[in-house]
Amino acid sequence: ITILGLESSCDDTAAAVVRLSGGKPEILSSVVYGQTALHADFGGVVPEIAARAHAEKIDLCVEDALEAAGVALGAIDAVAVTAGPGLIGGVLAGVMCAKGIAAGTGLPLVGVNHLAGHALTPRLTDGLSFPYLMLLVSGGHCQFLIAHAPDRFTRLGGTIDDAPGEAFDKTAKLLGLPQPGGPAVEAAARAGDPARFTFPRPLLDRPGCDLSFSGLKTALLRARDAVVAEKGGLTEQDRADLCAGFQAAVSEVLAEKSRRAIAEYLALDPAEPVLAVAGGVAANGAIRAALETVSAKSGLRFTAPPLALCTDNAAMIAWAGIERFRLGLIDDADLVARPRWPLDQSQPALIGSGK
Ligand code: ATP
Ligand code: FE
Repeated sequence: ITILGLESSCDDTAAAVVRLSGGKPEILSSVVYGQTALHADFGGVVPEIAARAHAEKIDLCVEDALEAAGVALGAIDAVAVTAGPGLIGGVLAGVMCAKGIAAGTGLPLVGVNHLAGHALTPRLTDGLSFPYLMLLVSGGHCQFLIAHAPDRFTRLGGTIDDAPGEAFDKTAKLLGLPQPGGPAVEAAARAGDPARFTFPRPLLDRPGCDLSFSGLKTALLRARDAVVAEKGGLTEQDRADLCAGFQAAVSEVLAEKSRRAIAEYLALDPAEPVLAVAGGVAANGAIRAALETVSAKSGLRFTAPPLALCTDNAAMIAWAGIERFRLGLIDDADLVARPRWPLDQSQPALIGSGK
């Protein structure tokens, strides 16, 4: 099976070709056109600008992906596209492009949930078998999922406010560090003392796997203002210590909540217990180390896809498309773009179309 995948739900226009042959998946190409520069002056992704850029670039992106894969449209078995959740203008640009290709070639269309794309990536990269535990931590999401099947996920808990990536980005902004904030904060934290400032560990006192990160942001702002009020500004060391304290708080909360999610997951008695992490924040070394430690303590294997497959890409959409295609989960021209689409209601994308 060879599938063309399209992704345009946030600020990356992406297309990829993935092939499954003899039970082995292979990424033949994965092209990503980022939009960071377009949004740089606005301090965040501007939906209208994103939508227009996706519409302008997606055709070219598809051509690039096919050419890089050395595959003609005639050798493709289906077109998979992110049908949500995400910024609706961008999702629409991708869905319309995919529908156009499907209509022009007669190829089947497969609507993919973007979060399922992230959550199924470890099956592409590590061949994980179901059920596995997934922590999805990105710029917009944070949730614990049990993946039972390509179209069946249970959500154990998640953030009740901000996503950790968002918190890293805001922390960087408050400290005058560059965007995206995650890598900048991680780099600064290396020279920092995590014990100098004490940040809260939100919701640790409550049972369950829900998380909260907005209080951490406020605590960071207060700590920064206290230093500035005392010394008139921030030194390099102050910044490093603030970053280290913040990162330690995020790591500890994620690790502790993972411990609880693992307990719920192990109750299913999985044959090969695994904790997989995905999303941009999975790039963080301290967070990875913390998750690896809890996994090892509970007898779980720990795995994280390579970074280029953790952040938004179309290879994961093509792969999720292959998984759905194999189950006969195919959509038609009624496929709708959805701004919201919780993963634990992961029905075929057709359901709810226009009704
Ligand atoms: P979503 O997938 O939820 O729609 P997104 O596509 O914006 O959101 P990703 O591309 O998966 O998110 O991840 C981007 C986020 O990852 C940013 O917030 C960025 O700061 C964060 N990030 C990247 N590298 C690191 C790092 N080393 N440490 C912490 N955070 C990081
Ligand atoms: Fe994403």
